[in-house]
Amino acid sequence: MHLKNKNIAIVGGGLVGSLLSIYLKRHGANITVFDKRSDIRNEKSSIGRSINLALSDRGINALKSVGALDEVMKIGMPMFQRIMHSDSGELTFQPYGKKSQAIFSVSRHTLNSRLMDIAEKASVKFYFNKECLDIDSKNTTLFFKDTELKFDYIFGADGAGSIVRNKISQQSKNINPSVEFISSDYKELCIPADINGSHKIDNKSLHIWPRKSYMVIALPNLDGTFTCTLFAPKIGHNSFENLRDKKTVNKFFKDNFRDLFDLIPNLSDQYFENPTSPLGFVRCKSWIENNTILIGDACHATVPFYGQGMNCGFEDCYLLDKWINSNPEMNHKKLSFFLNERIMDTSAMQELSMNNYKEMRDKTADETFLLQKKIEEWFSEKHPKKWMPLYSMVTFSLKRYSKALELGNIQDKIMQSVMKDNDICGDFNFDELHNKEIEKKILAKIQNIN
Ligand SMILES: Cc1cc2nc3c(=O)[nH]c(=O)nc-3n(C[C@H](O)[C@H](O)[C@H](O)COP(=O)(O)OP(=O)(O)OC[C@H]3O[C@@H](n4cnc5c(N)ncnc54)[C@H](O)[C@@H]3O)c2cc1C
Repeated sequence: MHLKNKNIAIVGGGLVGSLLSIYLKRHGANITVFDKRSDIRNEKSSIGRSINLALSDRGINALKSVGALDEVMKIGMPMFQRIMHSDSGELTFQPYGKKSQAIFSVSRHTLNSRLMDIAEKASVKFYFNKECLDIDSKNTTLFFKDTELKFDYIFGADGAGSIVRNKISQQSKNINPSVEFISSDYKELCIPADINGSHKIDNKSLHIWPRKSYMVIALPNLDGTFTCTLFAPKIGHNSFENLRDKKTVNKFFKDNFRDLFDLIPNLSDQYFENPTSPLGFVRCKSWIENNTILIGDACHATVPFYGQGMNCGFEDCYLLDKWINSNPEMNHKKLSFFLNERIMDTSAMQELSMNNYKEMRDKTADETFLLQKKIEEWFSEKHPKKWMPLYSMVTFSLKRYSKALELGNIQDKIMQSVMKDNDICGDFNFDELHNKEIEKKILAKIQNIN
């Protein structure tokens, strides 16, 4: 059963739904996208969600494959490194990968709008202000306020609060979804441009103010501004709960983020104007029920600390397309198998995302950790075929997330034992790598594992 001339509905015209529509259209199907929002292209910006996102290799690869990359790259700002801001305002620089490697800050609103334009050009039909209220997965039928519509296939790309997921999981035990919130929330703030309309801080970097249980990050926008995100516990010490009035907010930022405080003139006004939002995970045992399939945040929403949510959703589209090319008959059993394999990878991506929160928050200010990263970098430059740092495997490669997680854990154990056994710590001199034969020792440890 080929997709040619089949009628396919996509619920949700967000980032993943819009890209998926472009991919599926190429198989000759009739694609209709329904979104409960009005057309965002008629609005100035997206309200209430992260304003910009970090696009990396998995997302780039998926965009490239449908010819959308050139359009997107026009709005991308490359970030080559992390810059850590200490309590005293001291800066530490950590490249993301090799010299030319970067992740790209893109506007969610513009990216989504461009993808919709490309999809419409390819004859995908979009219906806005069309909220899906229910679904009958046995009959592949969607229910709206005033109509019901039957399709050959339905894709649920309706985000973390997915109605498609919720409804099909009531009709079948297979989906078995779970939603788990973490103990931290987030709030966005904006560093305005300077009087010349330029960025006030280095615009080729992602900035981090790590403070153990809380942190701020900042990503540049094309208009000279930066979008900052404060991540902090909901309750307890240094929590959102305790930041109740402007005076406390100003004191909190002045005491903990002095250099940032000076960059945002109306910080406490912004603080109370902008929403505080939760962060969490969506997990499902299965993503398919009859001819209804979940994709993107609807089945694997994650915390944003590896910048992988969208990238992973885009990779879903790329891999599904590849699978359809090799399985045009759309065999249900084979499709379920393919999706279950992908669940292993998105689960690993979720684990990596949470681990990276701890790393960004607690460890990016830790000298030994930064030294370990430098030694890893040095070794991987010498032996690129034997060692790729975990961050590069996740961000600058298309390696399966599950494989990246597995290799990353092994490499971390090797590095930690080398550091410990050779007494490598803070005031380390790079000549010692040679004197202590570190290269040989790491190679031997890799050999032992293989
Ligand atoms: C603070 C923050 C920072 C992030 N940073 C990054 C990052 O740097 N890099 C990265 O890769 N990812 C990042 N993410 C994750 C990324 O935002 C998501 O993974 C991505 O938006 C998922 O896209 P989606 O299309 O699956 O869902 P969504 O973007 O949520 O889109 C869902 C769409 O479905 C529509 N919809 C919902 N319900 C219905 C309904 N009943 N009927 C019809 N339409 C409906 C909505 O209107 C929306 O248009 C971040 C997330 C957050 C919260």
